[in-house]
Amino acid sequence: MDIIDGKAYSAKLRAALKEKVEKSAIKPGLAVVLVGCDPASQIYVRNKIKACEEVGVRSYSYVLPETATQEEVENLLDKLAADEQVNGILLQLPLPKGLDAESAMARIPVEKDVDGFSAENIGLLCLHKEDLVACTPLGVMKLLENEGVDLCGKNAVVLGRSDTVGKPMAMLLLNANATVTVCHSKTKNLKDICKNADILVAAIGRPKFVTADMVKEGAIVIDIGINRDENGKICGDVDFENVKDKVSKITPVPGGVGPMTITMLMYNACKAAFKE
Ligand code: NAP
Repeated sequence: MDIIDGKAYSAKLRAALKEKVEKSAIKPGLAVVLVGCDPASQIYVRNKIKACEEVGVRSYSYVLPETATQEEVENLLDKLAADEQVNGILLQLPLPKGLDAESAMARIPVEKDVDGFSAENIGLLCLHKEDLVACTPLGVMKLLENEGVDLCGKNAVVLGRSDTVGKPMAMLLLNANATVTVCHSKTKNLKDICKNADILVAAIGRPKFVTADMVKEGAIVIDIGINRDENGKICGDVDFENVKDKVSKITPVPGGVGPMTITMLMYNACKAAFKE
């Protein structure tokens, strides 16, 4: 059994991006917009800015108060949309109550949508004409590619159908010629479906939900979930300790998919800047 080391691969990719940025005359610029003072969002934003420094992406940080109006948020996004120094715009979600995230996100031009959440970028993904793709699922694909996993014709099961994780994950796997089943909270016979998976991707946000009896011998298990267990320790959606001996490859939490997400944000910021 291989434990997929997302931290190590992520460091390697960041080093390669750094080299690319150093060699280029263009210096990518990423604007990070935080509205309010949600502690988790503050940590995410801090980590994103740290990653920018590491790779050589210029970061522009904007913090609006909890009381900011929809108009103030959208005015800032319009300003960033028009700013040539800014190649990518990230609006940290969730927004404080009362603000319309969908309407705000619509102010981010598609070519600066480094989160890949816009309707246009999702549409392109569905048409197998990917441009800027959501960072977490993209990170999973990079991990699988680095592990030399051939997805063609394999049964892939995705647990979770969120617009930002589960759906783009399923679409990427489908575009890579896997046969994809997407499960959600209304799915019947979930265990049987999971047992048929050559590649099982869990993105539901339920601590240690995927148990050994749900997994096929030799399967590849990718755990996107970030939860806290009964002792307050970070854990994934997969019962790692009991599942790991049954599978051929598995991502740990932490240290698996997590580090790849911010690295893919840097990848997307560079892609947007270099117009690749
Ligand atoms: P989300 O928006 O809450 O979506 C959860 C999905 O899981 C929904 O589609 C839901 O089904 C499904 N689900 C919930 N309970 C289920 C159950 N018992 N059986 C089957 N399906 C179930 O969450 P998300 O944003 O996609 O995130 C999922 C997890 O990934 C979270 O733990 C989050 O923290 C983590 N995450 C990690 C990263 C990273 O960088 N590693 C990035 C993003 C998210 P319905 O649609 O029917 O409600």
